[in-house]
Amino acid sequence: MKIITVIGAGTMGNGIAHVFAQHNHQVRLVDISAASLEKGMATIGKNLDRQIKKELITEDDKSKTLANITTYTKLKEAVKDAELVIEAATENIDLKMKIFAQLDEFCDPQTILATNTSSISITKIAAVTQRPDKVIGMHFMNPVPVMKLVEVIRGYATSDVVTANIMELSKSLGKVPTECNDYPGFVANRILMPMINEAIIALFEGVAGVKEIDTIMKLGMAHPMGPLQLADFIGLDVCLSILNVLHEGFGNPKYAPCPLLVNMVTAGKLGIKSGEGFYDYSEGPKAARVSAAFS
Ligand code: NAD
Repeated sequence: MKIITVIGAGTMGNGIAHVFAQHNHQVRLVDISAASLEKGMATIGKNLDRQIKKELITEDDKSKTLANITTYTKLKEAVKDAELVIEAATENIDLKMKIFAQLDEFCDPQTILATNTSSISITKIAAVTQRPDKVIGMHFMNPVPVMKLVEVIRGYATSDVVTANIMELSKSLGKVPTECNDYPGFVANRILMPMINEAIIALFEGVAGVKEIDTIMKLGMAHPMGPLQLADFIGLDVCLSILNVLHEGFGNPKYAPCPLLVNMVTAGKLGIKSGEGFYDYSEGPKAARVSAAFS
């Protein structure tokens, strides 16, 4: 059993806390917002109930998992004696640099500092610390308790020992860790986001409608979701910010976000989280229908 601190109790942080606690680690979940902590713990409870319903775990497993998680609002207290810290706070480079500078000050010198960032450079984050060899990307996929992949990203200075340690730890959680180097978008988003962007460009140019594009990709490529539905699920603001990282990082116009995506984000149409994106979720995610803007 290790002491693991997870920073941020949002979509990803509560999932990461869930998985570590379920594998018998002592988890400290810290967030600046007490309301986020409360919501995050409620989500973990609901997701554990779903696992009970599917007969994957027992009531006793649920109680043990919840007992392994303690919540905090103060970073310094939450990281005391932690062997590993996984940062899953909001995707904002200034915020992450500030958090990592504090972590470097508050944590033991041997503590490994991981980030769940979708797109921000691990090397850049590591550069604000005195231990760039111990900073690594640990990119879990959403929803964390279900998705097997952990994209393990080596920053420019990440050591072999730290990488091996994180690969082993991820395997012990039942995940499939896969290593890559630190370049914009890593592997997952470097390939996924241009596909989503191309789907939006096809819609923008009138090649086909929302339903048609998603049906063609779903049935034609055996994808579980069409690219427009997936963009709504991820959040159109998140897609836009990752495309901007790719565009700026490579300086290649092929990554330029589609003007329709930019307009939708500017108008607050962010997908499921705002109630509307390419689809309308006003009657809940399960009753999604094509947004009036595209029908
Ligand atoms: P979210 O908005 O759901 O949650 C972020 C949480 O961070 C919030 O609860 C917020 O209160 C908290 N926070 C903000 N500043 C903080 C601070 N200084 N200290 C502690 N907590 C703080 O975001 P999310 O979707 O969970 O994303 C978190 C990270 O995971 C991001 O880096 C994102 O790119 C990455 N990621 C997201 C997904 C996804 O599908 N949502 C997938 C993979 C990776």
